[in-house]
Amino acid sequence: MMKRSKSARKAYRKRQLNNGRARNYKQQKGCAVCGELDVDKLELHSRYGHKGGRGNHVSRLIGRGVSWKRIIQEIRGCDVLCHTHHIELHQWRYALLNV
Ligand SMILES: [Zn+2]
Repeated sequence: MMKRSKSARKAYRKRQLNNGRARNYKQQKGCAVCGELDVDKLELHSRYGHKGGRGNHVSRLIGRGVSWKRIIQEIRGCDVLCHTHHIELHQWRYALLNV
């Protein structure tokens, strides 16, 4: 096993913490269409479009270790949707949900 530096451990803890915060946020909101509350089925859909494809930009930010302040800004520009409705949204190009 590779020995991790103190800063690497710190970065890891920060990612874990922000991941947990993002999960809490999704769970509190639930799917904007059907109200699904199972956090493992919930995804964030950016109202401003996914820059550079359909990647999950919020998890990329968390992975990069940016501050929660920056991450929550991004999350607030998103709708919480379950996996099924997220796909439907992309397929049918629904208008903004305004939630
Ligand atoms: Zn749904």
